[in-house]
Amino acid sequence: MYDFPPFRPPSEAGSYLIRVVRGCNWNRCAFCAMYKGLRFELRRKEDVLRDIDRISNYFPHSRTAFLGDSNPLIHPDIVEIVEYLKKKRPEIDRITAYARIKTISKMPEERLRALKDAGLTRLHMGLESGDREVLKLVSKGIEPEDAIEAGKKATKYFEVTYYIMTGLGGRERSRKHAINTAEVINRAKPTFVRVRNLTVIEGTPIENMIGREITLLDAMGQLEELRTLIERIKVETFFTCDHVSNYLFTRSGAIFYGVHGKLPDERESMLEQIEDTMKTVEVLEKSGERVLTSNDMYKLGLITL
Ligand code: SF4
Repeated sequence: MYDFPPFRPPSEAGSYLIRVVRGCNWNRCAFCAMYKGLRFELRRKEDVLRDIDRISNYFPHSRTAFLGDSNPLIHPDIVEIVEYLKKKRPEIDRITAYARIKTISKMPEERLRALKDAGLTRLHMGLESGDREVLKLVSKGIEPEDAIEAGKKATKYFEVTYYIMTGLGGRERSRKHAINTAEVINRAKPTFVRVRNLTVIEGTPIENMIGREITLLDAMGQLEELRTLIERIKVETFFTCDHVSNYLFTRSGAIFYGVHGKLPDERESMLEQIEDTMKTVEVLEKSGERVLTSNDMYKLGLITL
């Protein structure tokens, strides 16, 4: 049987999916449920290459490929695997992978160059926060300096996505979290910034922190944090809230789908959109209608993640 990776970024929906490792070698982030209960494992090179041979039996024709699971670049044979994929499927023009910031910050540049030469083109990395206290609170296992170092190195060879998580510091640290995250983005200069809003998944360690160390953001808090981030990011990057966790809802449907655009060129229109939504939230809440965040919707069973 073909070994499918259980997760892939939304932008890889049409990609060939190739599982190089199983699970996450860190697996300690307090908010993450992705690979809980799955023992980390390097797949045998022969098995990965065999999956590549059979790829057209399982996927429609594609020009893009994604390597899973959470940190495949630590596989000792990763360069050879990417080379084999390119040889077998020369029509592929984009090969991407998830990567841990810690791994990239420590990886010798020669290895990154070898991966680029083999055909790897884009890395998806979870920053979540640029604030030291928040990173520690959620056991991310990185420091802001690691994220700056990883960004500086990786962007020499690849397109880089940094994922960030609004609400992760709670109401208590919201502004600091936004300011320090923007600061890391300004120094790491990722090609894309993709936003997820903290949505507490049942059974994750962060669940026990809610109401103690972390107070969840309401709709207005979420918009304020997003506004601070966008105001403070000064480098060129494509900023997108391309995930349902960013949406805001009333009982009759979504009223906010996040903001998307090039920074700094589209900053003003993105900020305007946030300001308009803030006014709508204010009016709705004055009239007694509560605006629902992803956490409310998830608890009600109205969205899945
Ligand atoms: S967020 Fe990423 S690094 Fe953290 S446990 Fe989940 S998969 Fe692993």
